[in-house]
Amino acid sequence: MNKKISLSSPHMGGSEFLFLKNAFDSNWIAPLGPHVDGFEKDIATYLGNDVYVAALSSGTASLHLALIILGVKAGDEVLCQSLTFSASANPIMYQGATPIFVESEESTWNMSPEFLEIAIRDRLGKGKKPKAIIVVHLYGMPAKMDEIMAISRKYQIPVVEDAAEALGSTYKGRKLGTFGDLAILSFNGNKIITTSGGGALVSKNEDWIIKARFLATQARDAAPHYQHSHVGYNYRMSNICASIGRGQMEVLPLRIYQRRRNFSHYKRLLSHISNIKFQEEPNDTFFSNHWLSAITLDESVDRLTSDQLRLSLGEDNIEARPVWKPMHMQPIFSNYPFYGDGTAEKLFRIGLCLPSGSNLTEYEIRLVINKIKSCFTTSSVV
Ligand SMILES: *Cc1c(COP(=O)(O)O)cnc(C)c1O
Repeated sequence: MNKKISLSSPHMGGSEFLFLKNAFDSNWIAPLGPHVDGFEKDIATYLGNDVYVAALSSGTASLHLALIILGVKAGDEVLCQSLTFSASANPIMYQGATPIFVESEESTWNMSPEFLEIAIRDRLGKGKKPKAIIVVHLYGMPAKMDEIMAISRKYQIPVVEDAAEALGSTYKGRKLGTFGDLAILSFNGNKIITTSGGGALVSKNEDWIIKARFLATQARDAAPHYQHSHVGYNYRMSNICASIGRGQMEVLPLRIYQRRRNFSHYKRLLSHISNIKFQEEPNDTFFSNHWLSAITLDESVDRLTSDQLRLSLGEDNIEARPVWKPMHMQPIFSNYPFYGDGTAEKLFRIGLCLPSGSNLTEYEIRLVINKIKSCFTTSSVV
């Protein structure tokens, strides 16, 4: 039996440990410290477009602060892509606000501009103007940002980009995370680069980023004693985590290359199986980091379901995972409004995420590909 082939696991480059050792040697173990500042600068420089960055404890915390900064309060409505990980929607609940879920479209798997506008018009008709739009770049694939931003401007509703899975992806040559009024990144252990756990809030609005850093460090007023005039949070990234992040930033371009190489291997060696389709860039204005390589199996012609394929891969110690279950189908969110036509539900039913780590060897990728091929041969439909 081969050793376990994971969906996506941490991949250190080498200099992380030097940065970490530097943090220990200088006794900067506490939260904050020079590596936090350095990491923020590294990210801001990488993203370009004059953004400011606050390094925080997680992507989820970053999204929570984004909503607070936009003034989302109890009783407000927030539009959110349904096909995503629950952390995109949970912060709406933290604020006591109501999530309004929006369908995906087939070409990117991300928020459908059509259903976004339908949802906004319907909510306006009900006398509620949504406070924000949370758009996700699922598995690294850019959403249709021109269309989404045009709707945002037309109705004057700010956009928060959930770029947790999409660091390094671009749309029309511009890095994701620089389109929305605010954006969040994640450095959780499974993401394209990791600080073991962490996240960041990104914006061109420097005041917002300064406010985020203030709220994330217990909202201390300027006074020698502890004085507070806001509710504060303990959401800052530690100097230890940031030191790892600084090393990871050095290998980010290589990680993007490696994840994209995985995808192109799958595509090249599996595309003769007509039942398999890929989550592909619709055209060359979309550039995905292919954090995860995702496929769908044609349910109308083949009897091999994505679930059967996942279980067969599991028998060979190969970890595949269903496409994220849409939020409007989740027990916790099923009573909230949803605007859609079944696209996300279908992607969930027929989709599968294949092993996608940047540390997979060519040999391991071949094992996965050969196993998939053999599943189709035995199901006698190729
Ligand atoms: C991972 C992830 C998050 C949450 O980030 P954490 O750092 O784990 O809190 C949010 N949204 C999406 C789409 C994610 O994949």
